[in-house]
Amino acid sequence: MKVTENKIYNPEIECMDRESLKKIQDERLKETVAHVYNNVPLYKKRMDEAGVKPEDIKGTEDLYKLPFTNKTDLRDEFPYGLLAVPKEEIVRIQGSSGTTGKPIVSGYTENDVEVWTEMVARSLVAAGAGKDDIVQVTYGYGLFTGGLGAHQGASRVGAVVVPMSSGNTQRQLMMMHDLGATMLCCTPSYAIFLGESLKEMGYDPKEFKLKSGCFGAEPWTEEMREKMEELFDINAYNIYGLTEIAGPGVAFECPAKAGMHINEDHVLAEIVDPATGEPLPYGESGELVLTTISKTGMPMIRYRTHDICTLDVTPCACGRTHVRMSRITGRTDDMLIIRGVNMFPSQIESVLLGIQGVAPHYMLIVDRVNSTDRLEVQVELTDAMFSDTVADIEKIQKKITDQIKSVVGVAANVKLVPPKTIPRSEGKAKRIIDNRGLTSK
Ligand code: ADP
Ligand code: ZN
Repeated sequence: MKVTENKIYNPEIECMDRESLKKIQDERLKETVAHVYNNVPLYKKRMDEAGVKPEDIKGTEDLYKLPFTNKTDLRDEFPYGLLAVPKEEIVRIQGSSGTTGKPIVSGYTENDVEVWTEMVARSLVAAGAGKDDIVQVTYGYGLFTGGLGAHQGASRVGAVVVPMSSGNTQRQLMMMHDLGATMLCCTPSYAIFLGESLKEMGYDPKEFKLKSGCFGAEPWTEEMREKMEELFDINAYNIYGLTEIAGPGVAFECPAKAGMHINEDHVLAEIVDPATGEPLPYGESGELVLTTISKTGMPMIRYRTHDICTLDVTPCACGRTHVRMSRITGRTDDMLIIRGVNMFPSQIESVLLGIQGVAPHYMLIVDRVNSTDRLEVQVELTDAMFSDTVADIEKIQKKITDQIKSVVGVAANVKLVPPKTIPRSEGKAKRIIDNRGLTSK
């Protein structure tokens, strides 16, 4: 495997001693809290209810006093309710799929795009990027933050960007080969699929110039790292992010491959007990809660990510001082990520409730076949429908498939099953069988 040189995009900040870093964080946190209190009715209401005034927040040690923000708040305030600036100052909207079919959107000012770009630039440089690189961006371009995020960061570094967007495997490999791409940005599952397709297409891996890749937007494992590194003879680095905070680049791996450095001059990280919301010390596993301290458009205060991980503040071999988060080992809600698209079982339920002839009993079975996620949706027919003609049943099947595709954005294999065959549960219904093995430690 090629060795990644230990390059740091912004050493002054990324390697800053933690005491000086805290001074920056304290200042920015105070400014952010005052900004949202004065400009976002929901934050003012929540803080008033909790009896916290902006003056009570003097530094990061007071963070715990602030109320949490949730995904449901973004949904309830969709699309502009959480903006902290007039709309004229917003220059970009990005989004990801939400629970109701409506996306969760975030508005970015010029400053926010700049902050995000810097975070991605740091991530790519940690993975070895520089002016000489050709970066193939295979994340989707659009509302999804992956494509444009990686694009902006690679441009900032001065690399050549190849904005392929997702899909069309043959073309991806042909361009990667012919242009001599040196870095790849995409989801880890698609990277493996590309790697496996390479030989089938008659290429010799040695003809490729790839040296590293930044892979994120979905959970992955050390086994997947080994596989990617072997398939392409590269270094594979993890990159984490979410639309609500910025997009990819919130945290990224360095050549030490021992956790992802969170860009702590822009984002504060806490781990809390998912059940009680109590902050937990470094090292303990819990829910990641993030607070933006330099965004102006739609700042997020103590945002519950639902992602489970641990934080490690011990010095890293690379010289960076920012805290590292572990891989995501699970989620506190039932969100599934299928081929990079976030979805909730409740979305499927709402589709089924609107269709005559099926019962609201269903099971989602997720597998990974040839490194690609497959979603099977088993749905129970009603007694009346069960005795109907094959043609009618096929019609229902198609209707469900189409509606899932349009509401959730994922192609599913819908399988209709006889009445009362899906196991009933006395407690919380078990609706998901995930065979991908991604979320265990
Ligand atoms: P993104 O554009 O980063 O996919 P979304 O807002 O669509 O952003 O989804 C964010 C969610 O994706 C995160 O809360 C997390 O569950 C998941 N995610 C993103 N990056 C990673 C990663 N590197 N490892 C595990 N999960 C990730
Ligand atoms: Zn490091």
